[in-house]
Amino acid sequence: MKRIAVLTSGGDAPGMNAAIRAVVRAGVHEGLQVFGVRRGFSGLIAGNFINLEARDVGGILQQAGTMLGSARCPEFRSEEGRIEAVRQLGAHGIDALVVIGGNGSQTGAHQLTELGFPVVGVASTIDNDLYGSEITIGVDTALNIALEAIDRLKVTASSHQRAFLVEVMGRDCGYLALAAAVAGGAEAVIIPEMEIDPDTLAAELRGAYQRGKPHALVVVAEGAKFNADRLIHHFAEHRERLGFELRATILGHVQRGGTPGAFDRLLATRLGAGAVHRLIAGEHGILVGIGNSQIVTTPLVDVVANRKPLDLSLFELARVLSR
Ligand code: ATP
Repeated sequence: MKRIAVLTSGGDAPGMNAAIRAVVRAGVHEGLQVFGVRRGFSGLIAGNFINLEARDVGGILQQAGTMLGSARCPEFRSEEGRIEAVRQLGAHGIDALVVIGGNGSQTGAHQLTELGFPVVGVASTIDNDLYGSEITIGVDTALNIALEAIDRLKVTASSHQRAFLVEVMGRDCGYLALAAAVAGGAEAVIIPEMEIDPDTLAAELRGAYQRGKPHALVVVAEGAKFNADRLIHHFAEHRERLGFELRATILGHVQRGGTPGAFDRLLATRLGAGAVHRLIAGEHGILVGIGNSQIVTTPLVDVVANRKPLDLSLFELARVLSR
């Protein structure tokens, strides 16, 4: 193996740059020639490769986003698209590929291995919904951004005795919302895995005031049936009956752009270098993730076949501690 390529795909996550840097520098250290692929799988299909030397990845460790760009690439879902990607990899003399991304990206990575091309995945998504890694690149930083918003909203909520709602990212997985609710001391949390209807929510928030709390704050995952838009609409429509207003803050993409913290820089660096070391050891068709603080690998076939369970004991803890 002489030449490897690296790409970032799907939603960007703080720490992706640290992972790219680690792949490049660990690769160069091992005597490999390393190429970056611009804009994820789109760049593979378009043959958009750039040679990356150690100096080319200087100054990116502390930056959010990805210097290579990312993309959602519908063409890659077709066999023609993937065959063209493998052709481009061959035409550029690439022997193996590192795919940094979440569930969709690792599904794409698995499909490439099915075509016989050696791929190693690196677990990166702020959703923390990837089977094969206890925690993924970007989660910790995104969580801290959500917490900063929650802490600030609690201050203003206490001053005005208002109920506030914060919507965080998470289309299918409530991890970010649940962890933010526990760490931020929210009065209620709504996640796709554990839906609450608006009337029950109103009763919980009312209960918080009745117990003498100066504020009531609810964290909602964007993928919940009653997300921020729906709850605001419902509370406005039934204001008289419910007895109070709900003010909403939707964090949206703000959560992706934060300067990666120490945890994500370390995690991304270990996983990026770990991916190179596994390739050198002759392993591929695997995801490199973290388990019990150690680097662990999981076959991509298992990664795509399994759903990572959400620890619902955190949900119970959130309820108990919001007394
Ligand atoms: P995040 O969850 O953080 O947004 P992700 O990697 O799950 O990251 P997706 O948009 O789901 O993001 O996937 C990224 C890309 O992976 C897609 O745009 C597509 O090119 C490729 N991909 C997703 N699913 C498949 C699939 N079933 N087969 C082939 N490629 C896929």
